[in-house]
Amino acid sequence: MRQRREYHIVVLGAGGVGKSCLTAQFVQNVWIESYDPTIEDSYRKQIEVDVRAICLDLTLQEQSNLPRCGQGFLLVFSITSLSSLNELAELREQIIRIRDDENVPLVIVGNKSDLEEDRAVTRARAFSVSQHWGNAPYYETSARRRANVDEVFVDLCRQIIRKDIT
Ligand code: GDP
Ligand code: MG
Repeated sequence: MRQRREYHIVVLGAGGVGKSCLTAQFVQNVWIESYDPTIEDSYRKQIEVDVRAICLDLTLQEQSNLPRCGQGFLLVFSITSLSSLNELAELREQIIRIRDDENVPLVIVGNKSDLEEDRAVTRARAFSVSQHWGNAPYYETSARRRANVDEVFVDLCRQIIRKDIT
């Protein structure tokens, strides 16, 4: 029988950027307009990535908490809030300190891409942050429209798998 790998992913970002909505879309395929503020939530989901069976353990955390130790991190901001992007820098430094690894698997997620008219963070700005952070992949997502949701989790899984098997 194939071995099922279990990976722990931590979803981080400021309050209100859409961590709960994004994760609920990924795990349960639902759009729910409003959640209680995330203090710390967890979800599980089984997926297949490149014919590997994976069990994901997802922890959602607000940016005020010290990040939990995970194998991979989603750093989420809202494209409608520049401060939510700026807050990710400190989180990334904490992650690198905790993991003691400059190349820890992570993905930068600019959520709420459906709110183009309220955009406060240009793509160019987000890409320059990504370059600054060792070319961490950058995706724009819409939890509301379920756009690019699976893609961010799959990209992160691929990065974790690459580390796990090398
Ligand atoms: P969290 O605090 O990071 O967990 O954020 P939530 O998931 O609770 O979302 C905060 C608010 O943003 C809620 O009012 C959501 O309806 C809204 N929201 C989340 N994702 C999106 C999105 O992709 N598009 C739009 N338009 N609103 C979103
Ligand atoms: Mg939440």
